[in-house]
Amino acid sequence: MKILFLDQSSEPGGAELCLADIAQQFAKTSLVGVFTEGLFPDYLRQWNIPVKVLADQTFQVQKTSGLLAALKSLNQLVPLVTRVAQLSKHYDVIYANTQKALVVGALTSFLSNRPLVYHLHDIVSRDHFSAINRRIIITLANQAALVIANSQASFDAFIQSGGRAENVHIVYNGFRLESYENCVNDPKYLHSLLASDFTNFDSGDFPFFVGHFSRLSPWKGQHVLIEALQYCPDNVIALFVGDALFGEQAYVKQLREKIQVLNLEHRVKFLGFRSDIPQLMAACNLVTHTSTAPEPFGRVIIEAMLCGTPVVAAGAGGAVELINHGQTGWLTPPGDAKKLADIIKTCQNQPNQAKAMAQKAQTQASKLFNLETTNLKIAQLLDEVLKTF
Ligand code: UDP
Repeated sequence: MKILFLDQSSEPGGAELCLADIAQQFAKTSLVGVFTEGLFPDYLRQWNIPVKVLADQTFQVQKTSGLLAALKSLNQLVPLVTRVAQLSKHYDVIYANTQKALVVGALTSFLSNRPLVYHLHDIVSRDHFSAINRRIIITLANQAALVIANSQASFDAFIQSGGRAENVHIVYNGFRLESYENCVNDPKYLHSLLASDFTNFDSGDFPFFVGHFSRLSPWKGQHVLIEALQYCPDNVIALFVGDALFGEQAYVKQLREKIQVLNLEHRVKFLGFRSDIPQLMAACNLVTHTSTAPEPFGRVIIEAMLCGTPVVAAGAGGAVELINHGQTGWLTPPGDAKKLADIIKTCQNQPNQAKAMAQKAQTQASKLFNLETTNLKIAQLLDEVLKTF
């Protein structure tokens, strides 16, 4: 099957990593069209997935932009759609992976008479999108031959916003199990990275590492973990893995100010964007997820489970579907730093129970979130689209 995948992002977030995993099975016959050059197209090239950069500049519309910004972007949209429509003649299906890709994909699908598939990686609600953007997503997605929702939470929000249920299927993200198989749960992996910051490494008195893996953004709630640290023993150290995207620098400044005000400089480390996520997660004593708005899926939760590391997540959106509280991890109320600190202390004080919980989660995650099963489901759904179009 020849698929033209479309994704607006130049950076590899959860939606992009999921797309790369799906596109790889179709790599011989398909193409991923991205709107700008960056780390994501580089990542695709590393995996030998054909990629083409389609636009000369970044789209100015953001998820929360209003009508005016949407109208202003029209002068960028027209040449892009023209280019994609030409390209789409060589493909059977147009597969839009993000919101702006949906706009381009829907117009292209109309012009080139190719079926449109939309992979919904978002919670279409006012927490995440402006009213005009919600309206655009729903209207266009309702024209698609197939919508793949990444969780029940994303599905529910889509329907509540006016989406049609008939052609929506829920497919959870899948993961390459082999990437996690050789991870060792040993904080020594962090030694070389952090030795100069934490001198007690050499004495063998390791700190208790709490990892947070996400781009630095207000709704991802890094501030909640920083606030939680003040209620935890001094040897609890927070590691933030991930970069701030364009426009989020003000939040990074706020985080640094908070760290200073709470006198936590010696207990927080920012590692920036990293590619060795399984190794880092396995080396942490606990992985935290602290989104303050409902998370559409939460790849980091499953990744932590596959690494055999205990995980605590903010109990909203897709996270509630992934963790069975008290059995395979913990859920805390979004934004509640004290409750998060309680879980960190429980995990620190009861390492055997935490380990047992992590092992149970690892077994369950390996069964339910295997990439091979996910890719099979997606291939079947796409076959169905082609048959019925
Ligand atoms: N991630 C990464 N390097 C980093 C930080 C995060 O590769 O430095 C990955 C992380 O392992 C996960 C993805 O980015 O696979 C984030 O996905 P998630 O669903 O948690 O959040 P999203 O980006 O979709 O909001």
